[in-house]
Amino acid sequence: MERTVVRCAEGHLFSTGSFPLQNLRPARIGPGRLMRCPQCARLRSAVPADLAVLSTEQITRALRREAADFLA
Ligand SMILES: [Zn+2]
Repeated sequence: MERTVVRCAEGHLFSTGSFPLQNLRPARIGPGRLMRCPQCARLRSAVPADLAVLSTEQITRALRREAADFLA
């Protein structure tokens, strides 16, 4: 399953298998989605991370840390 590495508003990296980019609408706040960040343990606005600026280790760690769930 393909997963997307995302970054929460606090800068934590994690991943999700269900980032529904195609459902984004202009009415939402930027490109962010409300997701439960595993490190903040609360809902945060998360955006897809730019893999080009991340190290392999950062990406590997993010892929191991999966979002518990997401809303909206
Ligand atoms: Zn966070």
